[in-house]
Amino acid sequence: MNTKVAFLGLGTMGSGMAANLLKAGFPLTVHNRTAAKAQALVDAGARLASTPEDAVQGASVVLTMLADDAASRCVWLGADGALAVADQNAILIESSTVSPTWIAELANEATQRGVQFLDAPVTGSRMQAQAGQLSFLVGGSEATLTAVTPVLQAMSKEILHLGPVGSGAKLKLINNFLCGVQIASLAQGITWIERSGLDREKSLAFLKTGAPGSPVFAALSARMAAHSYDVNFMLKLMAKDLLYAQDEAALCDVDLTTAGAARYLFEDAVAKGFGEVDMSAVIEPLRDRQ
Ligand code: NAP
Repeated sequence: MNTKVAFLGLGTMGSGMAANLLKAGFPLTVHNRTAAKAQALVDAGARLASTPEDAVQGASVVLTMLADDAASRCVWLGADGALAVADQNAILIESSTVSPTWIAELANEATQRGVQFLDAPVTGSRMQAQAGQLSFLVGGSEATLTAVTPVLQAMSKEILHLGPVGSGAKLKLINNFLCGVQIASLAQGITWIERSGLDREKSLAFLKTGAPGSPVFAALSARMAAHSYDVNFMLKLMAKDLLYAQDEAALCDVDLTTAGAARYLFEDAVAKGFGEVDMSAVIEPLRDRQ
């Protein structure tokens, strides 16, 4: 593997993804706004770059895994941004969950520079990122995807090519809209169970294997029941995803009223101090009768 890869954004997801690139033998340069988070990767053999501009020097493939549109804009187009200095033959991949509107703008900037671009957000969470078991949802040209497939394979169990640039971002928001609404309703359902006098564990065991059961139900109901909020998926990121989903669906004349109701609960939890713990903590303000 001698494809030089640059990986920017070493949060919950990016740190696991980058570690798998190193394990697969790709020469890797990493960058993170908070440099300390890169230390384990540097100890494992990655080069540390102090700016996005420095990170992409000599890289054939550049991947970003950042919080939101604003972070992505800053890293690609900011003062020390990656896009302006990326190699003409490099392939740029935005894997963050960002809006299709921003993806279109970023892809246009890449095209202006004559650089190839893919949007490739992921499903799976912290554990799947660490285990190299993510699913990539890809938008962009087939030939470009083929060229980077070995890089994506090092981090994933599945690579789904969906169509032109922006297709990955669209399906990712639909995915997280469906998850976010279910998690919000689960938080209300568990609060109701806890106040009803029902046996919570018996009730959840029944529901989990019945019609409402799903992987999201199984994972999140266990964390809510255990009050266990170590971060797999930061709560404030789900508020962001539901907002992007509402905006994107509106462009197709779909009013995501259920996303609006769910977003209200996630934003309320952010306002009450739960923004930087796991999204399962969306239940905590509901448990508090104040
Ligand atoms: P995270 O732990 O919050 O990491 C966010 C990353 O963005 C960090 O590297 C952070 O840098 C960087 N960042 C934030 N604002 C920035 C700015 N203004 N300029 C430069 N860098 C900035 O999030 P994550 O869980 O890894 O998620 C990353 C992306 O994947 C998000 O779009 C998320 O929605 C999506 N996603 C998450 C999961 C999950 O289960 N966690 C699953 C699928 C997709 P610092 O370290 O300096 O703060």
